[in-house]
Amino acid sequence: MQISCPNFIGGEWRTLRGASTPVFNPSTGEVIAECPVGTAALVDEAVQAAQAAFPAWRDTPPVERARVFFRYRQLLEANFDRICQSVSREHGKTLVEARGSIFRGLENVEYACGIPSLLMGDTLENIARGVDCETVMQPLGVCAGITPFNFPAMVPMWMFPVALACGNTFILKPSEKVPLSAVLIIELLEQAGLPKGVLNIVHGGREVVDALLTHPKVKAISFVGSTPIARYIYETGTKNGKRVQSNGGAKNYIVVMPDADVPKTVEALSTAAFGCAGERCMAGSTALTVGAAADRLLPTLVDAARAIKVGRTDRPTPQPDMGPVITAQHRDRVMSLVAAGEKEGAKVICDGRSAKVPDAPNGFFLGATIMDQVQHGTTLAREEVFGPVLNVMRIDDLDHAIEQANKSAFGNGAAIFTNSGKAAREFKHRVKAGMVGINVGVPATMAMFPFTGWDESFFGDLHIQGREGVQFYTQQKVISTRWFGEGVGDVWKK
Ligand code: NAD
Repeated sequence: MQISCPNFIGGEWRTLRGASTPVFNPSTGEVIAECPVGTAALVDEAVQAAQAAFPAWRDTPPVERARVFFRYRQLLEANFDRICQSVSREHGKTLVEARGSIFRGLENVEYACGIPSLLMGDTLENIARGVDCETVMQPLGVCAGITPFNFPAMVPMWMFPVALACGNTFILKPSEKVPLSAVLIIELLEQAGLPKGVLNIVHGGREVVDALLTHPKVKAISFVGSTPIARYIYETGTKNGKRVQSNGGAKNYIVVMPDADVPKTVEALSTAAFGCAGERCMAGSTALTVGAAADRLLPTLVDAARAIKVGRTDRPTPQPDMGPVITAQHRDRVMSLVAAGEKEGAKVICDGRSAKVPDAPNGFFLGATIMDQVQHGTTLAREEVFGPVLNVMRIDDLDHAIEQANKSAFGNGAAIFTNSGKAAREFKHRVKAGMVGINVGVPATMAMFPFTGWDESFFGDLHIQGREGVQFYTQQKVISTRWFGEGVGDVWKK
């Protein structure tokens, strides 16, 4: 039986008949649900519901709004395994990876619980004689979030907890490839006592996105996805007068110095490159090995990559080390990029293209793949692969490694593995990326820090998460106050 995938509008779960797109279990290739294709008319209904719910939610004291998120946190914890299983089933992450991602989401809910403190403004007494000044942070109104396939629950949780805690109402458009975990976590939010209409889900694709980008009552758009769409969202949203934070794709470099600890670096590099089957915007997809580092590192790295067990993730046991990629088309795209790399002179030193999973012959599997001697300017050096493929570029010295990393059009993450404080200091100071790791392979930030992509990895001014997230979802009002006279009655000393 297929899993239901309803829209959620004005507090009503609605299963609509009509156009839909298939949701796959990538471990088996089976269709497990149909995702409805929403329309501009449905978006308008959702916006009207969110607009109607806004005044009462805005005027709910921040401590009361926070209490909804304290209850929500408990419900998420109580249903933790169910959510992880849903993520593993529709996305293909292993249960361990799904748990890690839900923890990251949960931390955003915990951050939202602190909203009374986060919304406190500044005051200055006596800016002029008898005049005081204060700032207050007020919500914007109806906000919308459009999310990618690679973190079905975590990325929505980057957005709606803080947006709602700030007093906004929200419309979520999950990825049509993985809409089921989003439905599950919003059912729990409803159980936590969120009033009707405060959060709405409209499923679909481009028509829904365009309707949100152009609707006059939508005040702000948060987007996470690929760079071409991120740019489109930013340009269209801002042209229509909206505040936009738009996260795009990435290509993250990991510099390995000759003095790096080999076992620890191999472990971190394998996780960074092959974790979540490489479908992470913070994947460490290119190793820049400096000098003798390649010869010290590669034999152990290849052994580690060959030992990664690929398999289905849709059952609690046994669990593999790595699951499938999201669709058959995506697997084919990754394979064609590897083939293009080979043609352009890179050497396949670990080949995962023929990975087979006997009990799931129709799953979308790929094994860990390592491409050595990738050259600057080639397809593999330029494109985001978004699969379990690690490129190795051999570089003579640290200066050239930093130069190579800085040639990237993207600017999400970068890391260095070294025992030299001087090399690490040089790297962190000069590298052109928003999130930097020193002996940390995936320096993705936690809820209290902004997720600081640069260049083609981010379009906008205020990033998702942390204080920037709170600023994005609020507008400041500065109030200057002076009181005349002495009021009614004889209260002052004569
Ligand atoms: P995608 O850009 O294809 O889709 C993202 C969202 O945009 C989905 O909801 C989709 O329905 C919608 N969309 C797709 N095409 C559209 C169009 N033509 N017009 C309007 N809307 C459209 O991305 P994806 O494949 O789901 O996710 C993978 C990408 O997301 C990778 O590039 C990855 O690096 C990126 N990503 C970035 C971050 C970050 O924080 N920078 C985090 C996670 C994922």
